Amino acid sequence: MIRYFTQLLRPAQPCGGCPRENNTERYTLLDAALDTLRGEYASDELHKERLSICQKCEYLIAGTNCRLCGCFVYLKARYARASCDIHRW
Ligand code: SF4
Repeated sequence: MIRYFTQLLRPAQPCGGCPRENNTERYTLLDAALDTLRGEYASDELHKERLSICQKCEYLIAGTNCRLCGCFVYLKARYARASCDIHRW
């Protein structure tokens, strides 16, 4: 059931022309909501490692948001199942 609703919120076709074009397994806001309910978070070490990758990334805006997914990377990196849209972490 949860998988069904997750699939509904994923875009059927990826947008064109951006580096994440071929990624159909994006971590969505629904995924984050479900992981919050389940309490599935990344360890402090993994969170820190992910943020260090984002801090060096050309798609990071103002040190807080990813230009590709629009997420606050500090929050997105906290979820265990989350991943970078272009597979950098
Ligand atoms: S989530 Fe990925 S693309 Fe976005 S800022 Fe971090 S490393 Fe870059």
